[in-house]
Amino acid sequence: MTSQVAALALDIGGTKLAAGVVDSRGVVLVHARVPTPVTDDAGVVWAALVALVDSLLADPATGRFAAVGIGCGGPMVWPAGLVSPLNIPAWRGFPLLDLVRERYARTKPCVIHNDAVALAVAEHRWGAGRGADHVLGMVVSTGVGAGLVLGGHRVDGTSGNAGHIGHLIVDPQGPDCACGGRGCLESIARGPAIAAYAVERGWTGEPTAVAVATGAREGNLAAIAAFARAGRAVGVAVASAAALLDLDVVIIGGGIAETGDLLFEPLRAAFDEHAGFEFVRRCRIVAPELGPRAGLSGAAALAFDLVIPQH
Ligand SMILES: [Zn+2]
Repeated sequence: MTSQVAALALDIGGTKLAAGVVDSRGVVLVHARVPTPVTDDAGVVWAALVALVDSLLADPATGRFAAVGIGCGGPMVWPAGLVSPLNIPAWRGFPLLDLVRERYARTKPCVIHNDAVALAVAEHRWGAGRGADHVLGMVVSTGVGAGLVLGGHRVDGTSGNAGHIGHLIVDPQGPDCACGGRGCLESIARGPAIAAYAVERGWTGEPTAVAVATGAREGNLAAIAAFARAGRAVGVAVASAAALLDLDVVIIGGGIAETGDLLFEPLRAAFDEHAGFEFVRRCRIVAPELGPRAGLSGAAALAFDLVIPQH
């Protein structure tokens, strides 16, 4: 019976807005996406989202849904759903949850969470964390985020911010971080930080992580050094997290992780160096399995938790 339940899922980031209908096995039945408008006007971004969702729901192929789940870039006031996504500057304290509820879920459960949390929940339920009870799901991209599942349950923390591994301190003398702290993992491993460090080391190509990754594959020493530094920082943070939480598996996705060995080789080396206890060393470090629609599956997973108890 439960396989017939579906959720409307929204996945909202600085690059794209995505919407879909997902069944309770995590399968995305229909979906659509548009680029996130580059604008200062909050209403323009909202109008683009409404146009996207309205057209999806107007499609006869789109069936009924029982709840609505939203994954959105942070930070946000949670669970109220006032969002201020770092990469959508037009939205600051934007009441996304209320607006979505008003338009699409007046009589249905509607929930929002950080997009990294949504991804972690999806990978735990249907992807690389399947069958494990203690899972950290990470995204290493323009920022570094994560979500936590412990004892089989999503961990929110007091304010919905549990899992912010990007702000674990990996180098107390390290760079200033956008959070106001210093030496955080994110200040070293986020894409722009990798590019900036490569430039510092003499990289003269395009100052983006994508270009630096290409340079590293071609043997450029500054580019290799930048990825080595980032990978080691992630490895140190993962070893710390695994020791703190006694994890079964750490799933690491996102654009920077998709460079593969460039990040994972120094990452695993640092993990092996710093993970001492056997219970830490047994933690598996793996890539995600769900692919580009994981954000929609994750948003739906949040919604299913509201309508399918003990799912
Ligand atoms: Zn920080």
